[in-house]
Amino acid sequence: MSKKSRIGLLGGTFDPPHWGHLWLAELARVQLNLDKVLFLPVGDPVHKQGQIITAVFHRLQMISLAIQDNPCFVLDTTDCTRPAPHTTVSLLPLLQQSHPEADFWLLIGGDSLRDLPTWVEPGRLIQHCRLGVLPRPGAEIDWADLSTAVPNIKTAVDMLDGPTLSISATAIRRWVKNGNEPRYLLPTAVAEYIHEKHLYLG
Ligand code: ATP
Repeated sequence: MSKKSRIGLLGGTFDPPHWGHLWLAELARVQLNLDKVLFLPVGDPVHKQGQIITAVFHRLQMISLAIQDNPCFVLDTTDCTRPAPHTTVSLLPLLQQSHPEADFWLLIGGDSLRDLPTWVEPGRLIQHCRLGVLPRPGAEIDWADLSTAVPNIKTAVDMLDGPTLSISATAIRRWVKNGNEPRYLLPTAVAEYIHEKHLYLG
């Protein structure tokens, strides 16, 4: 009988992708013994309605550049090519169809775990996958509140244990808009792409 593969799912806006995303993926790969991590940019983020999001084309290019040196990291466009709304609970069955022999871990930061009660059907979501969570500075988890809102959440979570990073895409966009280069906040190839395409200036 063939062994089930273990796949990490890292969904996000990736506007832009940065070391925080890559570190979350790498720590999860090592500690959860994952075969690969799918980077799943969301076309139309449910939680960022009303915000200006960089065109999917640029976000896909930047993710490709960010993951190009890691064969375990794979770009998957399912969540930006399907019809909206792009909820995670409706994405999971599509990925199960394309990877029928896989167990899934949704990889998220502590801020996303804290905000899970605001997601669509979080209780159903954790029936389809486990959660691999990297704490994020400034995002405290209140397990009592979380367990009230999403019963059984604690048993669905694998906490990752390693250094944490307080880098965010919001801070990088602000940094670039203020006339700075984002060196050392994300891979050099992504910084060069942002510079060449004049992203985040306006
Ligand atoms: P923004 O600042 O625009 O909201 P972001 O930096 O939070 O963006 P997203 O693409 O929205 O990045 O995040 C995708 C996922 O990656 C989320 O689950 C988020 O919690 C996680 N993540 C992003 N940055 C970090 C980080 N520094 N540490 C841990 N998790 C992170």
